[in-house]
Amino acid sequence: MSKSPPKRNSFQKKIWIGASVIIFVFLIQSGTSIFISLEAQKYLNPTRVQQVSLSNELKSKTQKLRNYLEDYTITGESKTLEEIRNLKKESERLITKILTDLPEEDAPYKKLNVLLDDYVENGIKFAEVVLNSQSLDPELNERIGKNYSSLVNLINNRISLEQDRLISAFQDANKDLQKNIQLFVFETLLICLLSFSLIPLLIRNITKPIASLDEATRSLSDGNLDLQVSIKTNDEFQDLGESFNYMVKNLREKTHRLEETRNELETAKEEADKANRAKSNFLASMSHEIRTPMNAILGYAQILDREKSLTEKQRKGVEAIYRGGNHLLSLINDILDISKIEAGKMVLNISDFELTSLLNDLASMFKIRCQQASLKWSIEGINLENPVLVKGDEGKLRQVLINLLGNAVKFTESGKVVLKVTQLDGDQFLFQAIDSGMGIPKDAQTSIFQAFNQEQAGFKKGGTGLGLAISNKQVELMGGKLELESELNKGSCFYFSLNLPSSTAQISKEDNRWTKVSKLKDGQVVNALVVDDNPYNRDVLTELLTSVGATVRQASSGPEALSEIEISHPDIIFMDFQMPEMNGLEVVYKIQKEHGKDKIKIIMISASAYHHETEKYLKGGAHHFIAKPFKTSQIYEAIHTFLNAEFEFDDLDENDNRSSEVNKSLDYAALELPDDLLSSLNEAATNGDIGEIENLIAELNGLGSEEIKLATQLKSHAENFDTDGVLTILKGITNESV
Ligand code: ADP
Repeated sequence: MSKSPPKRNSFQKKIWIGASVIIFVFLIQSGTSIFISLEAQKYLNPTRVQQVSLSNELKSKTQKLRNYLEDYTITGESKTLEEIRNLKKESERLITKILTDLPEEDAPYKKLNVLLDDYVENGIKFAEVVLNSQSLDPELNERIGKNYSSLVNLINNRISLEQDRLISAFQDANKDLQKNIQLFVFETLLICLLSFSLIPLLIRNITKPIASLDEATRSLSDGNLDLQVSIKTNDEFQDLGESFNYMVKNLREKTHRLEETRNELETAKEEADKANRAKSNFLASMSHEIRTPMNAILGYAQILDREKSLTEKQRKGVEAIYRGGNHLLSLINDILDISKIEAGKMVLNISDFELTSLLNDLASMFKIRCQQASLKWSIEGINLENPVLVKGDEGKLRQVLINLLGNAVKFTESGKVVLKVTQLDGDQFLFQAIDSGMGIPKDAQTSIFQAFNQEQAGFKKGGTGLGLAISNKQVELMGGKLELESELNKGSCFYFSLNLPSSTAQISKEDNRWTKVSKLKDGQVVNALVVDDNPYNRDVLTELLTSVGATVRQASSGPEALSEIEISHPDIIFMDFQMPEMNGLEVVYKIQKEHGKDKIKIIMISASAYHHETEKYLKGGAHHFIAKPFKTSQIYEAIHTFLNAEFEFDDLDENDNRSSEVNKSLDYAALELPDDLLSSLNEAATNGDIGEIENLIAELNGLGSEEIKLATQLKSHAENFDTDGVLTILKGITNESV
């Protein structure tokens, strides 16, 4: 990361300089204003103005006095003399007034007033002389008059002169005032000019940097990381700009790194998604690929099992093939379930079912398994005698409970396994699988629901580590949450609650007779066409159908099927979906276009494992769908359902007897086996060698009735590849009864 830029502090200085200039100019301006006011006050003093007007008044009065005096000397009227006296009085009053208010230092005024004083004094004196002399000598009067007149003129001139001086002093003062006003205006303009020149300076130094920072911040918040602010004020704003650029640069670098990481993550995610898709596709196609030959294997096993002429050894071999195939199939189903969950393709299959019947099935299944593992089994909380009809996904609920109870048995050495089902409010049911086993450590309790997660005990006991992950998702899909309470060495309780609305539907019991079909009843004719590109699967189906008396033709492709229909006119077609050239649905479309929808019944057969595809086939015109690998019972039941064909059935087969044998209880501790047989059995079970276990079980059959019972129980475990079950039983045989 780059280093942050250094700091400046010159903006503070600029602020101080700017403020000082303004304060200085303001002080000058204030000083000038004060000076101007004082000057104006001095010259435009109202007393002075008044005195000037008083002296003017006095001047006119003196003029008037002169006129009266002239008139009097000419006419000698006493009225005029009276007026002269009055004028004299008034002039004296005016002079007193002027002299009283006049400031000491005001020389021009003083001079003027002294003159006025003289003038009036002389005039009065002259008038009194005239009055007192009573002289009526016109010549003398005229002479005195003339003298006075020239005196008056002289005085008048002097007054005018002084007045002029005074006016010029006023004018000078006025000029000074004008000058000062100009100075004031100039200074005001100067301040304005300074202010206006400071504004751009401030704009340049403050507003502009702020604006450009603001713009940059906005642009930054819009995601523009390439911007740079350019502030060249050489002060703190420039610092701010540089810090901003530095911050953006760091942000850019970090964003770039983040972008790179995101891209890497995106690529990794895409890769992972691709790999996941590839994995799902692989699993789906693998499942398809495995199911297709498995169909042939299990099909032939079923066909051979129907063969009455088989020797005992051959029958055992066939049964082993069938069981081994089914075990493999259940493993494939587990792996497929997980890939369906991961691909979000697992869906609910809601139907009406009898909850109590499901629980009864589980009870009989786990009663035996617990017995074999020397554990106490009980089902609590619900009365299994009273049927409870509900709506829900029976298959998933069964699968979840079998898995939880299977684990409970598997991970419990001694004690009990309990299934508790409690009806809560309304349609809510709480399911609890409780055991007194080894328990699960606290730190493993959250990760235990993840796929392929096994504790040490799980590894030892075998298994795939998928069961809980599948159960967890299945419970979630059904609207519940699988939870766990467990204490190490005390036991575990896996529990969940589900909403299972009650149902009133009629539930048909599973029809087992289709597993015992012997042949078509006499007179029943079934004309079938088997369409499949895989010759083994074609042969399996053909064999199954011909063995019960049906007439069968084959076609290895869609076009071949279309021409075969024209020749043999089948009643029913077993159509494989996935074929080259034309898929099953395309063939169905062509057949139905030609022969109508219902004339020929079409059963679609596919190794595709996804349930939702059933709907696709039915919508595409097929009458029914059977998944590969199919059971013979499904094929015969379909013929019965869609062609109304009647079958004959075998009697109850030996399997039922066998399973009832398994149910019988046995006291293992009381058994005594040859030591080498017991140790060989233990060794074979520990090694997972099913073939060897079966060979050794055969030896048991010759030892006695209790040993035959033991052989039957061990066999049922071996058939299910449950070597743990075998080991648990062997553990109970102590060979110490004698
Ligand atoms: P698997 O049983 O095939 O190993 P699961 O997903 O069913 O796979 O179980 C995962 C792990 O959880 C087991 O390996 C085991 O360690 C642990 N586990 C599950 N159920 C129990 C239980 N009831 N008691 C103790 N441990 C259990």
